[in-house]
Amino acid sequence: MRYTNLHTHSNYCDGDDSVLDIIKEAINQNMDTIGILYHSYISFDEPYCIKKEKVDEFICLMEKYKKEYQGIINIKHGIERDYFAGIDDKPHDYVIGSVHYIKKNDTYYPIDLSKETTIKLVEELYNGNYYDFSKDYYELVSDVVTKTNCSIIGHFDLVTKYNLFDTDNDNYRIYYRKAIDKLIPYNIPFEINTSVVDTKHEPYPSLEIIEYIKSKGGTFILSSDAHKKENLTKHFDTYSKLID
Ligand SMILES: [Zn+2]
Ligand SMILES: [Zn+2]
Repeated sequence: MRYTNLHTHSNYCDGDDSVLDIIKEAINQNMDTIGILYHSYISFDEPYCIKKEKVDEFICLMEKYKKEYQGIINIKHGIERDYFAGIDDKPHDYVIGSVHYIKKNDTYYPIDLSKETTIKLVEELYNGNYYDFSKDYYELVSDVVTKTNCSIIGHFDLVTKYNLFDTDNDNYRIYYRKAIDKLIPYNIPFEINTSVVDTKHEPYPSLEIIEYIKSKGGTFILSSDAHKKENLTKHFDTYSKLID
């Protein structure tokens, strides 16, 4: 099977490899389509996103490689647009819409920076209650299509990244289901993101959530959220059956 992965980060943001090295590795892996994107510019979290002045250069370079490698591999370029980034007018081939922060008292708190920062955030803002934290998170996610104008919904249950609470919980189910019920009418695919399979033993979203989305008629694309070229199609052999 020739795979497609649209969620790949290069060294234009927080990925390890150059765009060209990623394309060469995708050809090496006999992929059908490689999509490379960048984290949208966010003024309050500059280290991990693209530099504002680099956006046009990235798009130009990707368009150049698109032509150069025509007939060998399909190349696309996109943006992983954060909920709080605002909408730009750049000519992206696709947009992944993602929530990476909770906003409280005019401060943005990253959700997926590290286990320690997430624990601290939930202690400080929610008295250690991960279900209240999840409620706020999923309320944001339920608006991710309108806020980002995305063509793909990114890592739907990012809030579970560090396995810090039991998701076998009825309140938790109410919160994530509410978000899904609101998102389904937009007809935008959810990504099945394999980047956490090694630590969570499940992708984003979890298998339980995937089943719920399916039962509501939702669709999926498979992606790896690779930050290293070795991971372009990691775990795709296991999870590609979920999107058939
Ligand atoms: Zn993300
Ligand atoms: Zn990403």
